[in-house]
Amino acid sequence: MLNKQRLLTPGPTPLPESVRLAVAADMIHHRKAAFRAMMEEIGQGLAELFGTAEPVLPLSASGTGAMVAAVNGLFAPGEKVLVVEGGHFGRRWTELALARGLRPVVLAVEWGRAVDPAQAAQALDEDREIAGVLVQHSETSTGVLHPVRELAALVRKSPALLVVDGISAVSVTPCPMDAWGIDCLLTGSQKGLMLPPGLALIALSPRARRKMEALGSGDAYFDLPAEFAANAKGQTHFTSSVSLSAGLRESLRLLRAVGLDTVYRKQWALAQMARAGIRALGLTLFAPEHYAWGLTSVLLPPGMEAAPLLAAAEKQHGVVMAGGQGGALKERIVRIGHMGYVDYADLAAGLYAFARSYQELGGFLGCRNYLEQALEAYRTALDEGIPAAYLLKK
Ligand SMILES: *Cc1c(COP(=O)(O)O)cnc(C)c1O
Repeated sequence: MLNKQRLLTPGPTPLPESVRLAVAADMIHHRKAAFRAMMEEIGQGLAELFGTAEPVLPLSASGTGAMVAAVNGLFAPGEKVLVVEGGHFGRRWTELALARGLRPVVLAVEWGRAVDPAQAAQALDEDREIAGVLVQHSETSTGVLHPVRELAALVRKSPALLVVDGISAVSVTPCPMDAWGIDCLLTGSQKGLMLPPGLALIALSPRARRKMEALGSGDAYFDLPAEFAANAKGQTHFTSSVSLSAGLRESLRLLRAVGLDTVYRKQWALAQMARAGIRALGLTLFAPEHYAWGLTSVLLPPGMEAAPLLAAAEKQHGVVMAGGQGGALKERIVRIGHMGYVDYADLAAGLYAFARSYQELGGFLGCRNYLEQALEAYRTALDEGIPAAYLLKK
C-alpha cells in the first residue's frame, strides 16, 4: 500500500476520528434519559447550523428521505409546485412530486448554470396556483450553487413555500433558514456533516408547519406531524438512529469548536483552490459562475472519459473522486469533493492525482506549477475571507 485512501467524493465524505469513535459506542435506549439528553444537545447544535428557532427533526433515512418527507408532508395530491431543474437532484424533486400526485411545473435550467430568481418569480406571478418552489441550494450533480437567498426574497412575497434541498450545502455554505425566509430546509448526514450516510434532517418555518398540520400525515413512514410530536419529547417517532445521533452530537461539537464562520471560510477557500488548480491545468470548470463550495466539477475535453481517469486516480494515487450523474454527463465531468473533513492537503493530493491521471491518459497539462497556483489561491482566499455579497447583511 503506497498511498492512503483519500475520499474526495461529494458524499460520502471522510470521518474525523472522534466521530468514528462516537458512532462505535455501545447502544443506549432511544426512549430513556441519556438519549433525550443527546437529542437536546443535538437540537441546539442543529438550530445554530440551520439558523432557525424551529425544531430540526432527525429522520432515519438517506437525504432523499427528507426530500420525500417535505414533498409528502407539505403538499396534497393535485397541488402545483415549481421545480428548479438544473441537474440530477432537481430531477429528483420532479420525480418525487409526480410520485405524490402533484403537478410539477418544471423551470429548466441549463446544467452548469444557476437559476435566475427573476424567472422563478415570473413563473409564480403567471400561475397563482403554484403552492411551492423546490430547489437545491448546491446542485451536487453539476457543482452549481443556486442563489437561494435571492430566490427566498422573491418567493416569500407569494403564498408558495420555498423548499430547499441543502444536502451538500448545510455546514458547507451559509444558509440561515430564518433570516433568508426559507420554509423548509433539509440535509443528509454524509456530506458536510462528516457522518456516515443514513440520517436525514429537516426543519420547517412556522408557515410551512401550519400547512403541514392542516394537511395531516402525508406519509406512513415520514410522518412529519408525528415526528414533531416525538421531537418535543426528545425522541423520534420510530426507533432512532442512535449511533448516527451519537456521531451527529460529536460532529456538531467539532463544528462549534471550530466555529461555523471558520468552516464556511475554509470551504470557500477550498473552492478557490480547486478552481485555480483546474484553471492552471488549462481545463474547463463545468460551473463557471455560480459554484458550490463543497465540490468542483471539471469538464473533460472531447475524447477523454471520466471512468479511466477515476480508476487511475484511485489505483495509483489512492484518491477517490466521482464522475458525472445522470446520463449525458456521466463520462464528461469529474467531480472533486472537498466538503466536511477535507483540508487543503487532501485537496492538493486530489489535484495531483487528477493531473497525473489526466496526463497518463494522454491529456495535456497547461502548466507545471498548478499546485503552487492552487495553494496560493487557497491562502489568499483564507486571508481575504468570503466576499461580502455571500454574507448576511447584519
Ligand atoms: C447527495 C444528495 C442527495 C441524495 O442524498 P441521498 O443521501 O443519496 O439520498 C440529494 N440532493 C443533493 C443536493 C445531494 O447532494
